[in-house]
Amino acid sequence: MFIGHFAVAFGAKKAAPKVSLGTLIVAAAFLDVVWPVMVLLGVESFRIVPGFTAVNPLDFTYYPWSHSLLMTMVWSVAFGLVYFAVSGDRAGAVCVGLVVASHWVLDFISHIPDMPLYPGGSVKLGLGLWRSIPATFAVEGILFAAGVWMYVHATRARDRIGSNGWWAYVALLLALYIPGPWASRPPSENIVAIFGIIALLIFGPWAYWIDRHRETAG
Ligand SMILES: [Zn+2]
Repeated sequence: MFIGHFAVAFGAKKAAPKVSLGTLIVAAAFLDVVWPVMVLLGVESFRIVPGFTAVNPLDFTYYPWSHSLLMTMVWSVAFGLVYFAVSGDRAGAVCVGLVVASHWVLDFISHIPDMPLYPGGSVKLGLGLWRSIPATFAVEGILFAAGVWMYVHATRARDRIGSNGWWAYVALLLALYIPGPWASRPPSENIVAIFGIIALLIFGPWAYWIDRHRETAG
């Protein structure tokens, strides 16, 4: 899933008002932060197979360290503990941990059965939403709309950056997401991984910036 992960981060702001939107974005995308690093290190692997699913050409052949259920739990607890150590915000730490874990659930819905339960395990899960472009757009679109709606009601802009910066963020996500199924074949697996890291280096800091220009509503 792609914008669905952002939707969870947006929606979580209401439950965790003290946590920066930037931290929530990094939490929601965290497994996809670990994944490209593991791929570039040669620990995990995937292949580009045009037409592999209707939505994207990625065949995730081996990614238990970033995307198994067991490792997701480990990453979730670790992320929550680090957040608690830095902030002292216990409720926020529980929320960010759950947001990290939500990634697995959303990927489980999207991916074909390629998500392992634990490293070395042979059972692989996935509901395969990506087999259908309309179903993917419907599910992810509803999630995204709900997340945006929750965020704009949980917070309000303090200035122009808080408003325009936020809506530009939403618009850029949609502009990257919607053409995805019709995009040309990526040049290589490593380019996909590098693009993933670059995307996070843009959308992470940008969300911290937005957060400083918005405040809790009500
Ligand atoms: Zn993922």
